[in-house]
Order: sequence, then structure tokens, then C-alpha cells
Amino acid sequence: MSTAARPERPLDAPTPGRGRFRSVAVFCASSPGADPLYAATAAQVGRELATMGIGIVYGGGRVGLMGVLADAALGAGGRVVGVIPRGMVEAERGHTGLTELVVVESMHERKALMADRADAFLALPGGYGTLDELFEAITWAQLGLHDKPIGLLNVGGFYGALTSFLDSIVSAGFIQPAFRRLVLADESLPGLLSLMTEAPRPAGAGWARPGTA
Ligand code: AMP
Repeated sequence: MSTAARPERPLDAPTPGRGRFRSVAVFCASSPGADPLYAATAAQVGRELATMGIGIVYGGGRVGLMGVLADAALGAGGRVVGVIPRGMVEAERGHTGLTELVVVESMHERKALMADRADAFLALPGGYGTLDELFEAITWAQLGLHDKPIGLLNVGGFYGALTSFLDSIVSAGFIQPAFRRLVLADESLPGLLSLMTEAPRPAGAGWARPGTA
């Protein structure tokens, strides 16, 4: 057995022990999108997560990519928890076949409960709602309110413009490089999940302005 001293773990090194995710919050569109690739990918993600034994927490609707994701996961024997505001049960066609459907009173409660019930966040393509949910998860991580990894599934390059924009915000001095690393992206689900599993927990939780840390 070697007696050499172990090198100190660099701040950015993967933190051991995050382990496998039991549940992932999936943010995705309430519409199907213009390219059939989006729905096909949502279905594949649903099936893959179910097969991996990873539960899904999502917005609870039957519409758009949300419904496709949920149905595919359920069809593959997965656990799917929906969290839907009472006022949206009709508009988003609250899914009655889920493992559990939690009806909450507000959008804020929805996001908070989705965050509580998941070990990680995954964004598929979507619109304002998806981006709102995604950025709240990111800003909560930046504030140190959680240390769960956040991944963008870059389906057909969908998130390329956003990740470039984030890089340009770093260059402009409004996002610290360490916080830029909170947002992971990959084109395949297995690739993204392994990035998320290996991601270091954000060190020095808590907010700091660029240049002040
Ligand atoms: P979209 O990406 O715009 O199709 O929306 C995706 C999902 O985000 C839908 O289920 C919306 O109800 C949901 N959503 C939109 N805005 C919010 C919000 N402020 N808080 C929580 N969920 C939201």
C-alpha cells in the first residue's frame, strides 16, 4: 500500500458521495414544439429514467412535452409525481394516472415542492415557463438554498444559444465563473446524468457579486 500523501482535493474536483439520484425534477414545455424530435426525446427521457429507477417530479399536466414525458415513464413502469397549481388543473389537464398528483395553491408552491421532492433538476426544451423554473433552480443554487445539480438536455442544439449567452454574461462580469458551472449541459441523457452525478457541490454557498468573492 502506498504511503504517499494524498494530494489535496482541488476546489473544483468532483465531490464524492452524491450517489445515484432517486428523483429528478424535469422542467419541460406545455406544448409539443415545432420539431417532432422534442416529443421523441421527451418520451425517451421518460423511458430511460424509469428504466434507471429514477423517479420523475414534473408539472403534473398532460399537455405538451410534459404529458409525453409522464406517459412514457409510466408506460415503462416508472414513478411519476406531478405538482400542479389548483388553477391550472384544467388548462394543463392535470394527469390522473400518475403515481401521485399533488395539487398546490400557487406557481411558487409548485416550484418549491418540485425542488423539495427531487435530488436534481433537468430541463428539456420549453418556453417561458420552463426557463422560469430553470432559472429559479439556478438562482436558488447560487444563493446556497440547495446544492442539487442542474442539467440542460441540449436536444438538437436547443440550449446552445442559452449556454453561449450565459458565457457572454460571465465575460460581461455579471455571473461568476464558479456559478456558471452550476449549469451543466449535454446532448444525451446518460452523458448529462453522469456530469450531474460528478458535479462538485457548489463551494462557499451563498451569493457574492462578481469580483467580490
Ligand atoms: P412552458 O415552457 O412555457 O410551456 O411552461 C412549462 C411549464 O412551466 C408549464 O407547466 C407552466 O405552467 C409552468 N410555469 C410557467 N410559469 C411558471 C411559474 N412562474 N412557476 C411555476 N411554473 C410555471
